[in-house]
Parts: sequence; C-alpha cells; structure tokens
Amino acid sequence: MNDRIDETVRFGSCYCRAVTFRVTGQPLRVGICHCADCRKTSGSAFSAYAVWPISVFEQTGQTSTYGNRSFCVTCGSRVTWVHDDEAEVMIGSLDVVPTDLTPEYELWVGRRENWLHALPEARQFDHDRETERGLSEPGAPGRTVETDVPRPGELLPPV
Ligand SMILES: [Zn+2]
Ligand SMILES: [Zn+2]
Repeated sequence: MNDRIDETVRFGSCYCRAVTFRVTGQPLRVGICHCADCRKTSGSAFSAYAVWPISVFEQTGQTSTYGNRSFCVTCGSRVTWVHDDEAEVMIGSLDVVPTDLTPEYELWVGRRENWLHALPEARQFDHDRETERGLSEPGAPGRTVETDVPRPGELLPPV
C-alpha cells in the first residue's frame, strides 16, 4: 500500500486568541447538535463541531472545563474539548471562514428551531447517536455520547 497521507492542517482559536490549536488531516466525523446542552453552552440555536483523533491535535493556551464543555478562561469562547482519544472542535473556532466541513449528521432534531431545516444528506437522530453507553438525557453528568465512536448497525430513526 502506498496511500497518500492527508496532511491538511486547519488552525483555530478562541475569540481573544489566547487559545490556539491546529488539527492535521480530515476529521473523523462532523456533526450538528440541537440539544439543550449545546444551546445553553453556545448561546446559539445549535452547535456544529468536528472530531479529530487526539494524536493530530495540538493546542496552546489555557482552557477550563465545566460539565463536558471546555472554554477559554479569558474570553469564555467554546473552542475544543479533549477527552479520551479524541478532540472535539467547534467549527466556529476554526480560523478560515467558511470551512470546507459539512455535517454528516444532526442530533436532537426535535429541538431544531422551526426556521431551520434538515440538512440534505445528513443523518437525522431524534436524540444522541446510539453508543455502547446507551442513550442519556441532556444535562446528565459526564454525558459524552455526542462524540462517541459510532457502532456498526446504528439505528436510524424515521425522519
Ligand atoms: Zn479566549
Ligand atoms: Zn448537544
């Protein structure tokens, strides 16, 4: 095998630039979440994020974490959240706008604002994706299901 390695590098930062990061290669997955946690923590109607393996993620600057969300200690921007072997990056923290990333799935679509519509070709989930931890309610301590690795045979709810 002589597969070409994708060395695409993307840079990101918080609002005040105290936190910067870079990720190399293509993300494992890209998603949108309309859940109550994502609404509250972003202050927006939903969150859009992309996940890379921790091995291709480098960050400078200090973040703090509340629940399962990390943010810049100076400006409060959500930037990245590092957990287990993955780094979840808020798409809005990437420096090149717009990005070349397109969400592949949407979570908690029942909480999607009425003026938004399902993304064409994005898988639609009523709640979180099914994971080995099972489904959990929003606000549950330590909830990490949005970023868990998908399993074969994931169930697709009717749209
Ligand atoms: Zn900042
Ligand atoms: Zn969410």
